[in-house]
Amino acid sequence: MATNEDLFKKIISHAKEYGFVFPSSEIYDGLSAVYDYGPFGVELKNNIREYWWKSMVQHHENIVGIDAAIFMHPTVWKASGHVDAFSDPMIDNKDSKKRYRADVLIEDYLQKIEDKVAKEIDKAKQRFGETFDEKMYRETNPRVLENLNKIDTVKKRFYDSLGKNDLADVKLLIEELGIVCPVSGTKNWTDVRQFNLMFSTQMGSVNEDTSMVYLRPETAQGIFVNFLNVMKSARMKIPFGIAQTGKAFRNEIVARQFLFRMREFEQMEMQYFVKPGEEMEWYNYWKEERMKWHLSLGIPASKYRFHDHDKLAHYANAAADIEFEFPIGFKEIEGIHSRTDFDLGAHQKFSGKKLQYFDQENNEGYVPYVIETSIGLDRTFLAILSHAYREEKLDDGSERVVLGIPARLAPIKVAILPLIKKDGLPGKARMIMDNLMDEFRCFYEEKDTIGRRYRRMDAIGTPWCITIDHQTLQDDMVTIRDRDTMLQERIFIDKIDGIVREKLKNN
Ligand code: ATP
Repeated sequence: MATNEDLFKKIISHAKEYGFVFPSSEIYDGLSAVYDYGPFGVELKNNIREYWWKSMVQHHENIVGIDAAIFMHPTVWKASGHVDAFSDPMIDNKDSKKRYRADVLIEDYLQKIEDKVAKEIDKAKQRFGETFDEKMYRETNPRVLENLNKIDTVKKRFYDSLGKNDLADVKLLIEELGIVCPVSGTKNWTDVRQFNLMFSTQMGSVNEDTSMVYLRPETAQGIFVNFLNVMKSARMKIPFGIAQTGKAFRNEIVARQFLFRMREFEQMEMQYFVKPGEEMEWYNYWKEERMKWHLSLGIPASKYRFHDHDKLAHYANAAADIEFEFPIGFKEIEGIHSRTDFDLGAHQKFSGKKLQYFDQENNEGYVPYVIETSIGLDRTFLAILSHAYREEKLDDGSERVVLGIPARLAPIKVAILPLIKKDGLPGKARMIMDNLMDEFRCFYEEKDTIGRRYRRMDAIGTPWCITIDHQTLQDDMVTIRDRDTMLQERIFIDKIDGIVREKLKNN
């Protein structure tokens, strides 16, 4: 059984070998935490984006989309709080010269204690069987109590210190907890410093005319500054949403987890504008809706969990993450935030423009509250890829690597494979391809043995292979092979599109 770290490495190398993800500028040894999507990766990524867009925009009459520019007026980031507060506390280990996020070091430390508690509870569950009362056990078992108290005390001190920007105390806490650098194993730490995550550049061609602009660190602000334009032009009534997908940029401190933490990545965000006072109802609604969306990808529920935030960002009155069990552990894949009227209120103040909704029924104007759903496209890609990756031993003793990607997201839907490249089989195969290619992403291949071609299609997650053989020329029938079951069936050529369409609906 491979360890998770091994599995992660295998997925990364599979992604490269089979044209899903390449390190950026690889011939120059790559650029840290920046990746390029290859021929099959781009198809999968486009399909995930489209699936999200369809479920958010096409399936909701009251949600519309926009595509805002990456560059925005610099004051946007003043108003949003990013210039002053979009930073992470960082700390370096003097021996290994490795840089860490102080909050991540502390969270990892707390996670270890939580794992201990969970183990203790599991053991007790087995010991007491049916009669086990977990709540009571948590409240009375001295060892569990001690650990839970420790978690609370550390959390409180950490958040208090961070809130007061008392970075010296954050360092002290790391030292007191005895946290060591995972690489050097020492406690030889530098001071903790705040590090702003925004990238900046110059706009304008002549030196005197240039002004500093930022590469957006989130797509949300493009939605807020377009609130009035969208509301008026699309005649939206509250509650309504604005959705957007696009690139975001963060100069991440710790960036060595493949697609999980990139410096250039893509977000899929939706801001839902509601009446003040109704935000909790909508917050809970979107939490559930978004979890349903994840489950609709066919990944088991046990791979997901909610993590409600104890410490809220300055703009939020409730926030939760949907976490996914990546090979590197349970980590955030999507955030659902109740952002109050913070953003519209701030832009109203900084721009001097009224950003309000007028409720005609009640004859009142107000700044709407906002519920945000914010999911990383690359993290979703990684979730799907890592769940899909399977190594299988077959009955005949051979092995295969399959990507069990849900068919509707698969890069290639149908492979068209003439058994051999002569006797008129390629011609017949091309005819079939011509009929299907407009509706389904197809892949044509005539080189190599059919077994090898099947394996290659398995490795990129192609759900169906169509094989054209000599018999096809007689009876107009082909073989359709299913990726997961490997079962083969003879079907008529003119039934292929209907069958694939029907299968796609259910996959
Ligand atoms: P984290 O705590 O992991 O840094 P975050 O809370 O800063 O994430 P948000 O600002 O809520 O993340 O961004 C929304 C989503 O954007 C995240 O749930 C994640 O899927 C994605 N995302 C954020 N940062 C990155 C990154 N550096 N690389 C890839 N995806 C990211």
